[in-house]
Parts: sequence; C-alpha cells; structure tokens
Amino acid sequence: MGAPLHTRRTALRGGLAAILASGVAPAYARNAFDAEVIVVGAGLAGLETALRLKEAGRSVHVVEANVRQGGRLRTAYTLPGTPNLGGVQIGPGYARLLARAAAVGVELAPEPVAPRNSRLFLGARALDGASWRTDPANPFPEAFKGLTPAAALFMLAQAEGANPLATLDDWRGPAGIAADISAAEFLGRAGFTADAQRLVDVGLNGNSLGTYSMLNLWRTQRLYEQERALGGSLVVPGGTQRLTDAMSARLQRPTHVRFPVASITSDDSGVTVRSLQGVSYRGQVCVAALPFPALRRIEVTAPLSDITREAIASLPYTQILQVIIEPQVRFWETDGMPIDMWSDGLLERAFSVRQPDGADTGLIMVWLNGGGVGPLDRAAFDWDSDSSSTALGDAIGRELARLRPASEGRVRVRAVQRWTASNSRAGGAYMHWAPGQVARWAGRMGAPADRLVFAGEHLGLVHTGMEAAMESAERAVAAVQERLARRS
Ligand SMILES: Cc1cc2nc3c(=O)[nH]c(=O)nc-3n(C[C@H](O)[C@H](O)[C@H](O)COP(=O)(O)OP(=O)(O)OC[C@H]3O[C@@H](n4cnc5c(N)ncnc54)[C@H](O)[C@@H]3O)c2cc1C
Repeated sequence: MGAPLHTRRTALRGGLAAILASGVAPAYARNAFDAEVIVVGAGLAGLETALRLKEAGRSVHVVEANVRQGGRLRTAYTLPGTPNLGGVQIGPGYARLLARAAAVGVELAPEPVAPRNSRLFLGARALDGASWRTDPANPFPEAFKGLTPAAALFMLAQAEGANPLATLDDWRGPAGIAADISAAEFLGRAGFTADAQRLVDVGLNGNSLGTYSMLNLWRTQRLYEQERALGGSLVVPGGTQRLTDAMSARLQRPTHVRFPVASITSDDSGVTVRSLQGVSYRGQVCVAALPFPALRRIEVTAPLSDITREAIASLPYTQILQVIIEPQVRFWETDGMPIDMWSDGLLERAFSVRQPDGADTGLIMVWLNGGGVGPLDRAAFDWDSDSSSTALGDAIGRELARLRPASEGRVRVRAVQRWTASNSRAGGAYMHWAPGQVARWAGRMGAPADRLVFAGEHLGLVHTGMEAAMESAERAVAAVQERLARRS
C-alpha cells in the first residue's frame, strides 16, 4: 500500500514543482490528503496510536525511518535465548499494554526468576559480596559498606522515610519540586565521598549522578510499590519485539519503512511530512511519536510552545551501549566464578544471556551506561562493518582478559546496539529528568501544537518505559480526535 501512495505523491510533487517554487500551492494539491492522520515513528507509541485510530474508524498512515518496526523494542531473534536489546520487563500494572497484547494475540509469561550470582571487580581484583563489605578499598560510609555499588542508590532511596513522594502524582507537584535534588547531592548528604560516588555512577540508570534527579527514582519506586500488589513482572516469551511485530501486522496499511522524516510542516489546512529523499505524505493531523533527540533532527514548522522547543532541544536520555559477545573459551568453567560481573573498568557490567529455563547460552551481554559508553561508542564508526566489529571485539577481549585471564581475550561480537547519541533514531535508551526540569517541563512539554500532536515514552505522566508510551498514545488519540472533529 505504501508504494502507490508514494508514487502518487512523487508524481504530484514533480508536476507541481514550478508552482511550489513560487510558494503558491493550489488548494487541491494542499488538501490531497493521503490519510486523515500521518503517524511518524513505528515504535510502541506510534503503533498504538495508529491502531487506536484505526479502531475509531480513522484513516492512518505510519512512516518509519528504519527497515525494522518496533523502535526501542528490539529482539535479536537469531541468537540463542533471543535476547532483548530494548525493553523487557512488563509491570503487572501496565494495563494498556496487557490489553493490547491480548488483542493482538501475544501471550505474556512471568519473568523467569532464576537467581543471578555475580562478581565485583575493582581494578582487576574480583570480590564477592562478603569480601566487598570488608575490603579496605570499599569507600562507602561505614553504615552502608554492605551495599553493593550496583544497588546502593536504589536501596538508600527506598530506605524508611527517604522517599518524599506520597502519591503517584506527587513527583510533579509541590512535594516533588521541593525535593528535586541530584543523586550526587542525595548521596553526598548520606556521606558518600567522590570516590564512593564514582562507583555508584557505573550502573546508574542515567548519565551521571550530578545530572540525574532523584525524582526519577522516587517516582518509579512509588509505582513499583503499587505494582507489587498486583504480582510479578511479565515478559513476552520469544522476545518483546513480538508485540510490536503483531501490532504492525494489524495496521490498516503497511508502514512505509525506510522513510526517514526530514521535515514536518503544519499549515492552516493540513500537515506535510517529508522524507530525506523528498517523498511526502499529507494528512489533516500528524502524530510525532519520536524520542525528542530524534525530533531534534527534524525541521518542524508548527506553533510549538517555548517549553516544548526547550525540551525537544535538551531533554536528557540515558546513554546505553549493549554488545553481545560470544567468548571462544568458556572461561567461567575454568576460573570458577559466575559469568555475571560488575567492574569499575571499561566493561562496566556483563550478564549471561540465558534460555527461558535459566540455562546459559554461552553468550554474554556487555552493558555500558552513561559516560561509560564513550570509549566504545564512536558516532562516525560503522559498527556493522566487519573490521569495526573485529576492532570492538578486540577491545572487549583485551579488557575481559585483564579481568578474567582464563578468557584468553578471545571473543566474537554477535550484536551491537547503540542506544546512544550516535543513534540518530533514538538518541538514548529512555528519558530521565535532570534536576530543575520537572518544575518547568513536566506535563507541559509536548502539548499539541495545532495540527501536530506528540506521543512517546517521554510523555508518560504516571508510568515510565513501555506503559508510558501506551499512556501517551491514549492521550495523543484524544487530541487527534478533537482536532479532526473540530475540522469536520
Ligand atoms: C535497553 C532498554 C531497556 C529497556 N527496558 C525496559 C523495560 O524493562 N520495561 C519498560 O517498560 N521499558 C523499557 N525500556 C523502554 C521502552 O523500550 C521504551 O519506553 C519504548 O519502547 C519506547 O517506545 P516509543 O514508541 O516511545 O519510542 P521508540 O520505540 O523509540 O519509537 C520511535 C520510532 O521512531 C522512529 N524514528 C526516529 N526518527 C525518525 C525519523 N526521522 N523518521 C521516521 N521515523 C523515525 C524510530 O526508528 C522508532 O521506530 C527499555 C529501553 C531500552 C533501550
């Protein structure tokens, strides 16, 4: 279906070139709508928006830059254990997502809870939990020496009386705004020195302790408390991307993939969405279901509020680089330590990729966060080429050999996923708030701008992650319907 529309618009464009160059498009051309609604981005939010609009009897056309749909839901289907490179855990309170999964015939299962053992590496020294507690190099305050660097911030944030938020909405109300401090300040008040903070920073779900607001954590901890009462987390057996695959198969028209949007132009009678190749679609309304760093690269002509412009320009996204490696030697069988590890060096964290029954596949996911992605993430580097993959494998292999000499440094790279600024379609893994941003932007950024409506994970007001994307789609559909009704 994408092709005929594409051809027609291309033909229209060619025929009208001279008139358009003069800046005066005749009404028939400007109002030749390809669909009532053009949705930009075939991630969870865009697909949910499109399905809801289809169910409401609206005509919708989805365009997507990548050849693959699903966005930040991505599964490496061809690897053992079908590891997810994007979203995994589905909270029991994800009501919209649970309903959509059921409607598209995707069954969910409880998340496997096989226990994970791990080692902590300081320099090249391996420590287990007990030896870390008493190790002279443990820089944590006396009362907190038993906390691991990976868990310390989370545990302190949920300690008795630490969370200033009483309800799920408080994070963006006066209580939250009064408590909007950075994780660095929070840890500093608890006696964590710069050395101690450096270790906590390694696994932070943000980019640095100083630019990460504690409201991110307190807000989700309140949510987890409520969700716990509903049961444990769920997953999509076979990979989370199965959900977006099933959703895209139910659209009215196939998504126009490989359609990198370069501009979105809203005028008094419609919205034109144009690709980098110069192909365009026109709708009465457009939904931009893109992360803000991706939207930053698009030329948007619409009456955006100052707040939305500011947030598009600078909302922070957590940087994550994932590399799945296949060590050529099963070194954990030789050195007797668990596969999983946390380190204060280049590799940061590594996890065994497992089968659903908990069996190791022999693959390892190396997971770097925040500032740590820098040394291995090169914007100009083409990770897909063989030589780059070898260079990356060599760098990881060398570091692995330093920590686990039994590995002999021999690894093969099986997959690389950059959820980083160098990925122009994402810019990062997920949004987080820096101190001071909630008061100014929360609930206000991304307000509809005439015919341009926004959706995406970053616009969740209750949830975060996948359910935030679903929540934003529900709101976007209401805004679209209101606009279409106004104009009919
Ligand atoms: C490593 C990782 C782990 C996660 N873990 C969890 C978890 O356990 N639980 C949870 O709930 N959430 C998790 N998340 C978050 C969750 O995956 C996201 O919140 C959700 O998938 C975002 O959906 P979205 O539709 O808002 O954005 P996206 O999925 O990013 O969709 C946006 C789409 O727009 C496309 N696009 C970008 N630029 C253009 C352009 N110029 N033209 C056309 N199309 C464009 C992109 O290619 C993409 O397909 C995780 C995410 C990551 C990365």
